This record gives sequence, structure tokens and C-alpha cells, in this order.
Amino acid sequence: MHTQTHPVAKAGIRPDKHTFLVGENPFESMMARFDEAAHHLNLEVGLRKVLRNPEKQIIVSIPVLMDNGEVEVFTGYRVLYNTARGPGKGGIRFDMQVTQDEVKALAAWMTWKCAVVNLPFGGAKGGVVCDPSKMSMAELERLTRRYTSGIIDTLGPDSDVPAPDVNTNERMMAWIMDTYSMHKRHTVTAVVTGKPVAMGGSLGRREATGRGCMIATREALKLKGMPIEGTRVVVQGFGNVGSISAELMAEQGMKILAVSDKDGGIYDPKGLDIKGVLAHVKEHKYLKSYTKADRVTNAELLELECDVLVPAALENVITEENAGRIRAKIICEGANGPTSADADSILNDAGILVIPDILANAGGVTVSYFEWVQDRGGYFWDEETVNTRLEKIMVSSFQEVASMAQRNNVSMRIAAYMVSIDRVATVHRLRGMYA
Ligand code: NAD
Repeated sequence: MHTQTHPVAKAGIRPDKHTFLVGENPFESMMARFDEAAHHLNLEVGLRKVLRNPEKQIIVSIPVLMDNGEVEVFTGYRVLYNTARGPGKGGIRFDMQVTQDEVKALAAWMTWKCAVVNLPFGGAKGGVVCDPSKMSMAELERLTRRYTSGIIDTLGPDSDVPAPDVNTNERMMAWIMDTYSMHKRHTVTAVVTGKPVAMGGSLGRREATGRGCMIATREALKLKGMPIEGTRVVVQGFGNVGSISAELMAEQGMKILAVSDKDGGIYDPKGLDIKGVLAHVKEHKYLKSYTKADRVTNAELLELECDVLVPAALENVITEENAGRIRAKIICEGANGPTSADADSILNDAGILVIPDILANAGGVTVSYFEWVQDRGGYFWDEETVNTRLEKIMVSSFQEVASMAQRNNVSMRIAAYMVSIDRVATVHRLRGMYA
């Protein structure tokens, strides 16, 4: 446990589900990796300074007429971290824990994620401090529309393209698209991704992150010379990313030993009937009433003996405290930031191959990019085309990162940062510094 308080931690990262141990907040974790990658790249000092700072940070006050007739004022943020390679891309979250620092860290993360899979996007993120579980649909609609209007000068298919994140979904994306379009006086579908398929969304988007995790895991198994058939997989989190990863990995012949949700997990050393588990969750929402397997806690689940561990729930679940007890050979980071910076070296020393979040879960933003391309072209692809193109991008990105790791004798994580920072830095150099 750290005793030193990082300035960002002091500035308001809180002790709850989005929180990081002191000294392990997301911006610090990310910057620790950034510095290491920048060092290996010999990145010039000026560019380091540029890439350590967000381009633009917007704070808006959002008055909303509540159902009881009172006016409440909420605070919203939108941060464009870097747009050298293209429009800012990144989700909007509605949560009481949102802070400007967190949004800034997540916007930086999106910059590297888009670059590692070579999308022509920069990185951005947005958030509104609110508790959506206490708001009616009508209140949420007014909040979403007024927030959109507040940040409208930055939004646009060529400048800043939001997407769903924590507690936002395709319904809110539809309201953002509509509000923006009303102001522009014509329909602009490409201003936001993660929309309903009926109004410019892409087929395959819902499954894209899990599909990307499956593809990355398959490539990692090949790299390690391990068979795909019978590979033993443990998945933490059974939401969008975790459940789809588990389903698609099982389809490839892998054996899913354990899965979990917020209340704990289920475990069968012979392999779970994943279709049965999915059907159970569809009906009962949670895993806890599933009786055809043993129960494990979320902490125990991480330490199960397996070939592949997929943390697909929360940040910072693998820390220096438990990293030494992880018995997987490969970790595929479905979640954003599941491994603390301190845990990285412990996992590396143990010879565990970590497919870093910015690569492992980039399938989602890749299909968001496909959605934007389809909206702009006004021509929509079938699901097979989406999946084939996603596969191609995930495989080539994995190989580029693996080869960077091999050439420089660094971990896949540092290699992923090196690939992305190098791509962003190259564009800055070519464009020249308007300083
Ligand atoms: P989700 O809300 O659909 O699912 C989250 C799952 O985690 C649920 O099963 C929930 O019960 C479980 N969970 C919550 N608290 C837990 C705890 N304390 N221990 C274990 N499990 C717990 O969310 P999601 O969209 O699947 O996202 C999961 C992670 O993947 C997040 O870090 C998210 O930022 C990241 N991610 C998601 C996407 C995407 O396209 N959905 C893309 C990139 C990254």
C-alpha cells in the first residue's frame, strides 16, 4: 500500500467503485506507463509536455427542470485530450463519482486506445455528476439535451464524437444526435456512436468489445504456442464485455471454468455450460441463483488456476497485493485499468502475458469507428463485413504490439503505449508545432 498521495488523488478520486488506492488513480497509472514508453521511444521533451496535457477542458452548468417543478443545476465535463490524428472520440458517463480529473484520465486513455488500433481519431471523454438511478426518463432526457447544448461547440463528426459509457446507453445517444441535429437544422447521425441500429447504429457493435477480447486472446495463445481447444478461461464480470467474451471463447472451443458478477462467481473445474449460464442471467439477471456450479468470491476467482484470466468488470482488481497469487498464463484486460502499475512488474516477472486494456478492449471503439464511417458514407454493412473488418484490425494491431514488445524487450503493455504514442507523436511532427 502506498503512503504518498498523488496530486490527482488529492484532487478528488474517491473511495468507491471508481476509486483507486492512493497513488493508483487512473491518470497516475496511465502516466506511469506513458513515461516508460516515452523513455523507450526517446520522445523529445517538448512533445512529452504536449502529450501530458489535455488540449481542451470544458465545464458546463446544466440547469434541468425536475419533475417536481424545481430547477436543479448539474455539472458536466467534456475533455478533448488530443485531436492530432482526428476527431476526439470517447464516451459520456453519468455518475455521482465523475470528476474533472477522472474525465481527463479517461480522455487520455482513449487517445492511446484509438491510436493503438490505428483509427483516425483522437481521444476525448465526458461526464455529468448525477445519480441516474434517482432520475426519471424525462429528467434524464432534459439533462442529456441540455448537456449536449452546453458542449455543442466542440461536438461534430469532424471534431468530437461521443459514445455511451457508465450509465449511458443508446437511448441517450439518440437524444444527443437529435439535439445536435436540431441545432444544425439537419440530421447528423455521425456526431455520436453507439446509436440504435434503426437510426444509424452499426450491426455488431454490442458484441464488438467481447469479440475483440476473444480475438486478442486467440492471438496471444498462438504467440505462446498454446492450443485454443480446451484452454481454461476465468472471467470476472458478466456484463456486456465479460458475457460476450465468455460466449465467443466457448464457441472457439475454450473451456470457461468460472464467471462472476458483483455478488461473486460460479466455478466448475470441468467447465461451465456457458449457454445455460447466459440463459439463466437473461431470466434472473444475476448469477447468484445459479445452482449447477460451486460458488467463489470475486477475490478467489482471480486466483484460480487457469490459462486465461479475463478481468472484465472493474478497475484495479489486480494489485501488488494479489498479483503474486495469479495463476493464469495470459491476462486479457477486458475492463479498463484492471491492473495497477505496481502489479505490472510482478506479472511480468512471473512470465504472465498481459494483453493490455488499450489493445484488448479496443474492439468496441473500432466498431464505433465503423459506425461513424457508415454514417458518413450513408451505406450500411452487414454484420459479417463488420466482424471481418474488426478481426483484421484486432489481429494486425496485436501483431504490431507483439513485434514492438519483442524488438524492444518490453511488456505488451509498454509496447502498446509505444505503438500509440509513436503514432500520435509522428502526426504532431508532420503537422509541425504551432507554438
Ligand atoms: P456492464 O455494466 O455491462 O458489466 C459489468 C459487470 O461487472 C456486471 O456483470 C457486474 O455485475 C460486474 N461487477 C460489478 N461490480 C463488480 C465487482 N465488484 N466484482 C466483480 N464484478 C463486478 O459493463 P461492461 O460494458 O461489460 O464494462 C466492463 C468493463 O469493460 C468496464 O471497465 C468498461 O469500462 C470496460 N469496457 C467496456 C466496453 C464496452 O464496449 N462495453 C469497451 C471498452 C471497455
